Amino acid sequence: MRQELLRKIADSTPWLGQVMARLVAIPALGPDNGGEGEMAKAVYLTSVLEELGLRIERVDAPDPRVKEGVRPNLLAWWEGQGPGCFALSHMDVVPPGDLSLWDSDPYVMRREGSLLYGRGVSDNHSGMMASLLALKAIKEMNLPWRGRAGVALVSDEETSSRHGLQYLLHRKPGFFTPADLLLVPDSGESDGGFIEIAEKSILWLKVEVLGRQAHGSIPHMGINALYASALMIAEIYNVRARFSQTDELFHPPQSTMEPTRKEAGVENVNTIPGRDVFYIDCRILPGINLEEVEQAFRQAFAVIAARVGVSFTLTPVQKLAAPPGTSSQAPVVRALQSAIARVRGAEARVGGIGAGTVAAFFRARGLPVAVWNTDHGVAHMPNEWVDMNDIIKDAQVMALLYTGRWED
Ligand SMILES: [Zn+2]
Repeated sequence: MRQELLRKIADSTPWLGQVMARLVAIPALGPDNGGEGEMAKAVYLTSVLEELGLRIERVDAPDPRVKEGVRPNLLAWWEGQGPGCFALSHMDVVPPGDLSLWDSDPYVMRREGSLLYGRGVSDNHSGMMASLLALKAIKEMNLPWRGRAGVALVSDEETSSRHGLQYLLHRKPGFFTPADLLLVPDSGESDGGFIEIAEKSILWLKVEVLGRQAHGSIPHMGINALYASALMIAEIYNVRARFSQTDELFHPPQSTMEPTRKEAGVENVNTIPGRDVFYIDCRILPGINLEEVEQAFRQAFAVIAARVGVSFTLTPVQKLAAPPGTSSQAPVVRALQSAIARVRGAEARVGGIGAGTVAAFFRARGLPVAVWNTDHGVAHMPNEWVDMNDIIKDAQVMALLYTGRWED
């Protein structure tokens, strides 16, 4: 039976190609990305979910910036008793960026052998298609599923999730339970063998340094803000050294703090800059207090500011404290490991990442979740691509989860 199910999924590439082409043709950009939202894609996906005989509930998040006034989130499932299994994917995509970097229209799916090209084919249509392929095969074979089985298809993942998963969890607080197998197929590694169970906290700091502008020939009449910035930037790794805890779940295992963005300063060579702005991207191990990190920067920079005679402001522009990770022994992690071993023939690795995903919203509500799919790291890139063979394999893994057949 299991082999038949896996074979059934392997034979479904024509349907995969058809649905994927439709998804690529409906951009679904959030208003923050200059788009009209996800409604057109949600309407199309509703028809796909109806074909699968799923019960559908649409949870609309108000957003006056799009013409429908709402951003749709779809819950679709087959009813059942006991803990269920849900895969959550997002409908929205990011803009194509510089079109000259694309070999073809980003919104017209192009196929070369088993490879599909187009905006969104990987992020996150591949994860979405894997879950739909799994459900389709289960339905066509009339197999029993385990508990409630379904998907959540959300809006606004690329631009904050305020109208997406955050809103959905707020409106439907008891829909998902801690006993459900919750999967976010939106990040992973190229061999399909990495299961993400924890994320670092994210702290982005903007530092504005104010001195006094003067002519380049009379620096004593000014206070050089760029010089003060340079000293502060050079101090960042010393601050980092004070938070030297390690957690081998992560690569790298310690917190990272890096100077990144630098705003343009004076345009001419012969002016002493009176203002300078730079940014720091911090990825902090869970358990370290972000206020303490912020405070450490404030104190270290204050010493430099006093020495050079500048003033400065330090403002967090992004601050997301990571909730505790999912246990490596959680049922969803164990089930995934067994299912991946069956499909891929190899043991999956379990670990943490430095980036943030929507899994944090589940974890903050005490819902164990695993982030996993086969991912070649092409999200947001020009000529975004996906290999249909990987989607098939991911769908096979998900089918074993939905049917409870990851073990004998
Ligand atoms: Zn994504």
